[in-house]
Amino acid sequence: GSGVDWNRVRGDFPLLAREVHGKPLVYLDSANTGQKPAAVIEAVDTFYRRHNANVSRAVHQLGSEATEAYEGARAKLARFLNVRADDLVLTSGTTFAINLVAYSWALPRLEAGDVILLTRMEHHANIVPWQLVAQRTGARIDVVELLPDGRLDLDMLRAKMTGAVKLLAVGHVSNVLGTVNPVADICREARKRGIVTVVDGSQALPHRPVDVAAIGCDFYALTGHKMCAPTGTGALWARREHLEAMPPFIGGGEMIREVRLDGGTVFNDPPRKFEAGTPNIAGFVGLGAAVDYLSTLGMEHVEAREQALLAHLDEEFAKVDGLRVFGTAPGKAAVVSFAIDGVHSHDLATLLDLEGVAVRSGQHCAHPLLEWLGVTATCRASLAFYNTHDEIDAFIAALHKVRRLLA
Ligand code: PMP
Repeated sequence: GSGVDWNRVRGDFPLLAREVHGKPLVYLDSANTGQKPAAVIEAVDTFYRRHNANVSRAVHQLGSEATEAYEGARAKLARFLNVRADDLVLTSGTTFAINLVAYSWALPRLEAGDVILLTRMEHHANIVPWQLVAQRTGARIDVVELLPDGRLDLDMLRAKMTGAVKLLAVGHVSNVLGTVNPVADICREARKRGIVTVVDGSQALPHRPVDVAAIGCDFYALTGHKMCAPTGTGALWARREHLEAMPPFIGGGEMIREVRLDGGTVFNDPPRKFEAGTPNIAGFVGLGAAVDYLSTLGMEHVEAREQALLAHLDEEFAKVDGLRVFGTAPGKAAVVSFAIDGVHSHDLATLLDLEGVAVRSGQHCAHPLLEWLGVTATCRASLAFYNTHDEIDAFIAALHKVRRLLA
């Protein structure tokens, strides 16, 4: 239907051609980190071979090439998200982006009696920074629970959006359940009540078109390495008024306009006010290439491809005796947590690895969610557009084999 040749796309990812334990690799851990297309690897390589210099510091030719490449990546990412480049702070990933909001926006503003509202399905990166803020300000954390299929309980969310709530932190897509939260509706409700919203977009951007402006949040955090880009890249988008009002988080070079030892240091304008020190320049060049790559594929095609793969996986999973899937929300992303009765998930993942199949096992940086699921660990198969129907069949065959060994 899409006109995309998915076999050719698969060939864009050199690593996927390798073997593991003498078996063809079946990589089903893209929610953990994604594989990189040759275009991204080559962009990083070319940067180091031809253009490497520091950004914004040198007037020489290489310095301007590096600066252009780095700022070009910011501009590409901004277009991809439908936001202004000047409102995008480049960070090392989602974790840094959320901590930036916690330390620069929340810490100076919250006080005893205030409430930070979270959801049960958040990744630790969208829990722990708020706990640190709560400890230091006396604010209290409240939690929105889930419905049995893994959707957010929106009635509870509405009921908990009281006048005391200053900030709502919510994931766009769950990294364990695959649930896609209606973040635009949620942010609209929050905004009506004067609640500032932080959306963790880590697991949404790799899977679907995302229009950050249309979501209407106050902050949107993202990480590059799950969307074809190098590790150590990411961004925080924020409403301009917040970027102007927030004090810097990390001090150093580049984030200043003028430094005076009498204390009259003048900070740079946002987003540079929040980008102290030498950034991961080559990584962002790779992020720019990743955005180009995904834009050429078309995120609506990526989404449709992954939904087709997910439908195939769901169908095959339904035939495996004693297999339990966690998270069955309608329209979920292609992230599937599962367990097999009587089998420990680490044993399952270890034996699958011997068959060449890479799945994650454990708690997926989501202890509160695992507690709610009532399990100590799950296995997680997370798909990307570069996976194939044949790989899903190979995974299912390996699962049957492993199950016979263990059960
Ligand atoms: N939030 C979610 C939902 C995630 O899946 C992840 C990555 N596991 C993160 C935040 C953290 O991203 P990073 O480690 O790249 O900062």
